[in-house]
Amino acid sequence: MILDAMADALGGRAALAATTTETVTATGVRRHPGWGKVPSEPELVAEFAYTQTVDVVAPRYRLELEADTKLVPTKLRYTEIGNGSVGYVDGIDFMFDPRPASTAIPSWRVAARQRHIDLTSVPRLATKLLDPAADVMIDGSTVTLRETGRPPVRVVLDDDSRPARLEIIEEHSPHGDALVEVRFDDYRPVGALVLPHHVVITVDGLVVHDETRTVELDREADFRVPDDAVVDASAAQSAYANYATEWLMNYVLAGVRFYFDLQTTPTDPEPVDVAPGVKIVLGPSHNVLVVEMDDHVVAVDAPLYDEYTRAALAQVKRAFPGKPLRKVIGTHFHYDHIGGIREFVADGGVQVIVGEPSVRYFRDLLNSPHTVDPDRLAGHPVETEVIGVKDSLELPTADGGVMRILRIKTDHTEDGLVVHLSKPGLLFESDLWNPTPVMPAPNSGRGRLAVQLYDGIKELGLDVQTIVSGHSGTDGHTLAHSAPLGFLKTAAGY
Ligand SMILES: [Zn+2]
Repeated sequence: MILDAMADALGGRAALAATTTETVTATGVRRHPGWGKVPSEPELVAEFAYTQTVDVVAPRYRLELEADTKLVPTKLRYTEIGNGSVGYVDGIDFMFDPRPASTAIPSWRVAARQRHIDLTSVPRLATKLLDPAADVMIDGSTVTLRETGRPPVRVVLDDDSRPARLEIIEEHSPHGDALVEVRFDDYRPVGALVLPHHVVITVDGLVVHDETRTVELDREADFRVPDDAVVDASAAQSAYANYATEWLMNYVLAGVRFYFDLQTTPTDPEPVDVAPGVKIVLGPSHNVLVVEMDDHVVAVDAPLYDEYTRAALAQVKRAFPGKPLRKVIGTHFHYDHIGGIREFVADGGVQVIVGEPSVRYFRDLLNSPHTVDPDRLAGHPVETEVIGVKDSLELPTADGGVMRILRIKTDHTEDGLVVHLSKPGLLFESDLWNPTPVMPAPNSGRGRLAVQLYDGIKELGLDVQTIVSGHSGTDGHTLAHSAPLGFLKTAAGY
């Protein structure tokens, strides 16, 4: 019987049953498939080193992690404990605000981590598979584990009957169904067991995670969390953590913990005026620009994921009463700025405008299967036209001016667009620079991006007074979604 062969290959049923904890000490890298210059090359987001002790049977873990994040270079250093559905973090886990925190974590963050551990700990996996009550289906050298509320895990065994890889269909917004594979190799003896020392995770064939480990068994660990460490998740949030696990881990390992907060609404109840005929929907982390045209509106960016975008779309529709949304512009392909684009087009009759290099990418994600977490578009598919901008595209605005959608050359992405509005002299961009409420320090831009944005504005000959952005910036006290061009000039070091 195949499960007996697997147990024997890993050291035997008795040795597995006698194992209490697994401690993994690892170094590795994480890459984000929705970031980088082009969609086919996931961006390196962190180099990490961690020591993690997990209970082999009960859902308990203690993680000590250090990482160098790449998007904003920060040193993460934190201890995270999860016990059942409660958890606690102590240290620096957020690249945008690298101040140590000591706080309870939402239960769905714990749930995602528990699922990630279930997918990467062979002793935990074997214990589940060997449980007489487990729901397993055997087909040749493949064993499928089914657990309530989780996508099934196909375990493919190698010639020696050891787990070679796991296959799971997860939700990866905005693409929908994605094949997550967890590959184990470099099996070596650890005490009485034989366990993998190399783990690689791929998403639709792209490598997102690669770690090299040493393993120790039966080390004692303190899994206690403070009594008040309960931040309950909604049922939807907990479910999400279990079927979009590696999507969430892309963000948390990048040092962007706010994906664990599942933003569901903009911060302001109504869109905020920017200029006559121009409003902005302000979110906790991402903004949407709304521009009034003669008989419709154009939105720029559709950030995050459909849960958030639904609420943002309601504001877009209310921004200029009687004028429906007919076009949505994606500043660039990064998930966090266009993850809700399917929700934005779901009513039908909405064109998508993006940089020429990403046209195929957007066509694919507008038509891709979404069976794990069906969205509105999956329920009622509509044909959506995707228009690629080679150099620039001009559209007349309601104020008698012109909207120019322009390609801009930066290190951020190859498909980057900025949107210029001639009448208010306003330029909208995402990720190149975040406006600040007061004059920023010279050379305070993110790498070369602020310089490239300022150079681009001058090269394109645009009359710009104000920069408005997909991310609000801060001076540590107040947030600003727009700033005078002079602020950008200073940030760029001119
Ligand atoms: Zn970006």
